[in-house]
Amino acid sequence: MHKVSIQSIPFDANSSYLRGAADGPEKAIEAFYCDSANFCTQDGIDLSSLTNHWLIEDPIKFTDEDPKTAFDHIYQHTINLLAKERKVLSIGGDHSITFPILKAYAEKYGEIHVLQVDAHGDLYDNFEDNYYSHASPFARIMEEGLVGSLTQIGNRTLNPHQREQAKRFGVKIIEMKNFDERHFPNLKAPLYISFDLDVLDPAYAPGVSHYEPGGMTTREALKMLEVIDVPLVGADIVELNPKRDVHGMTAMVAGKLMKEFLAMMM
Ligand code: MN
Ligand code: MN
Repeated sequence: MHKVSIQSIPFDANSSYLRGAADGPEKAIEAFYCDSANFCTQDGIDLSSLTNHWLIEDPIKFTDEDPKTAFDHIYQHTINLLAKERKVLSIGGDHSITFPILKAYAEKYGEIHVLQVDAHGDLYDNFEDNYYSHASPFARIMEEGLVGSLTQIGNRTLNPHQREQAKRFGVKIIEMKNFDERHFPNLKAPLYISFDLDVLDPAYAPGVSHYEPGGMTTREALKMLEVIDVPLVGADIVELNPKRDVHGMTAMVAGKLMKEFLAMMM
């Protein structure tokens, strides 16, 4: 069995529309521990009997909002955990944090393959003059050649620029309109999943900054995870914005995904 560290990344300074995702990790972990649910995954794996194998690390502390400094910090934190032979489940934070995380993963694993589950491509070459914007992490990741392949699922916002970018970087995209969780693409190992909660329809997950109607149901997302049969070496759950949440229901989705990802990574 593998050991997994859960790292909280309360950082949202690269959000383009609304702040609030910095409060995401605290609420996700609260939901993860909420007494209203037990500690079993949908396949009945009891995480409470496996506490030697997973650990919630202290949240990363940020002294200022300078993205360069923050990213160095996230990179360093991740590389330290990977050096201890732990897989890392990161809780955001806005989606910009995946760039420094994957930088660390690329260093540790060499070639890694990424599944991005997201309503958006996050492939902008330049969004509002912020190189680090949460609208651009996968452009940065592809430019730096950090991953062997990138597959996007759930995208329903492709404009001509991002279509062009996807072509340029060779990104494989299964748009939401063509999504069918029973016919899933072959993914290569080792796999990293970056899960942006806004892939879900706002009806299922209102606690996000960007509402994009016509999304996945929570069940479709869970079904999709069930059919993935390659080893998962890392994952992140991003863009939980508690300021927009209703009765903590999106936080509960994040908490449930944490359980499923943990079991997949151990
Ligand atoms: Mn995203
Ligand atoms: Mn998104």
